[in-house]
Amino acid sequence: MTKLKKFDLTFLGAAQTVTGSMYLLELDDFKIIVDCGFFQGKRQESAQLNRNIPRVALDADVLLLTHAHIDHSGNIPTLVKKGFKGKVHCTDTTADLCKHMLRDSARIQEHDAGWLNRKNSDDPDWEPITPLYTEDDAVAALEHFVPHPYNDTFDIHPRARVQFVDAGHVLGSASIIIDVQVNGHRRRVVFSGDIGRRNLPILRDPVPPKHADYVIMETTYGNRLHAPVTQMHDQLAAAIEETYKRGGKVIIPSFALERTQEIVFALNELRRSGRIKPIPVYLDSPLAINLTEVFRKHHECYDAEAIAFDLAHGDPFGFDMLKVVESARESMALNEMSGPAIIISASGMCEGGRIVHHLRNNIENHSNAVVIVGYQAQHTLGRRIVERRRQVPVFGVKRDLNARVYVLNAFSAHADKNELLWWATECGSQARKFFLVHGDPEQSEAFAQTLESLGKKCDIPRRKATVSLLD
Ligand SMILES: [Zn+2]
Repeated sequence: MTKLKKFDLTFLGAAQTVTGSMYLLELDDFKIIVDCGFFQGKRQESAQLNRNIPRVALDADVLLLTHAHIDHSGNIPTLVKKGFKGKVHCTDTTADLCKHMLRDSARIQEHDAGWLNRKNSDDPDWEPITPLYTEDDAVAALEHFVPHPYNDTFDIHPRARVQFVDAGHVLGSASIIIDVQVNGHRRRVVFSGDIGRRNLPILRDPVPPKHADYVIMETTYGNRLHAPVTQMHDQLAAAIEETYKRGGKVIIPSFALERTQEIVFALNELRRSGRIKPIPVYLDSPLAINLTEVFRKHHECYDAEAIAFDLAHGDPFGFDMLKVVESARESMALNEMSGPAIIISASGMCEGGRIVHHLRNNIENHSNAVVIVGYQAQHTLGRRIVERRRQVPVFGVKRDLNARVYVLNAFSAHADKNELLWWATECGSQARKFFLVHGDPEQSEAFAQTLESLGKKCDIPRRKATVSLLD
């Protein structure tokens, strides 16, 4: 093998921020992209970044995908549409989830662009908006996917061998090991992906790869501690029982991937053990319903608890009180319904989708409750509800927030500071360097201090920064 002259790592996204994950690893002229996610947040700035994928990424030879969340996978159809010709390697579960996630993302974009163009059709200065990609583009991108079981190794280049290991964050999520032959040495580069928590329902625990030389690691909660996972059921049961006593409805805005399945499984267990009354539960999210089918298909990803439940009681995601709401007409019919009920719907931050209708119809009633089970970014309706503002804007109309608000922070899918530290020390006991990414600066900096106090070398790279991993 000839001498490797270039072994460069470039941070194309999720650098000093949490969204837009994308990294480039170059072995001479061979280019590997890891993740290709959407930037999210301030609307115009994100749209600009999402549209302008760097040329070097379009020319890449191969893409490795950590998991199906849209801030990691969402821009793959744009990449393919603009000329990327390579394969997209991921776990088989991630490939199945992406079939729904990417098409759903396209449909939302097409819908939003059409709505805005119609709304502004009388404005002579209006520049019609086009979606970043269409459903056809998403389908074309899915043709590039190559699924792999966890822990299998495969070569993407004579010098580079890849392996996906459990990250315990959402179903199918992986940390990626890339072993590279570098002029007589093996160098192990590990991309953490998003790291989950030990003892989360359904999922197996994260498995930190060993003996990493370079670790590209998420730090979403580098300086925060979560309530223990074991409090999930207690928190949820308490919110439901209190609302039941008031005769109200429980509205749960939930991310369609993973959080919804965790909530449904938790409700199933609570119902089965008699800890909640037989209240009807409505799952009102077409995407969540499709993703739940992927969960049912991929038993091999379940942890011991979910397998035992499945064997003893059957489907963790189906029980007598659960009703799946498919059509928009059925969803609207829920408005007329009286009496206690639990409604689970998306989007998770209340920015669109059917949940907004349920909030409009329910938040002014003192008997009802909104149960927040996921992260709510700044400037979203979900965040305003978390802040318990007296009034919140729903479809542009201010409404009194009279419903009780419960914020259940045991439901986080991201490792907290202590869990990150455990993962980092297992993975990088001899690491030459940690590159801390996927975190707001104060979270990454706090975590860097923690690692440096243990004698580890850290860097918090900026977007577009390149480092050489050659000695
Ligand atoms: Zn994620």
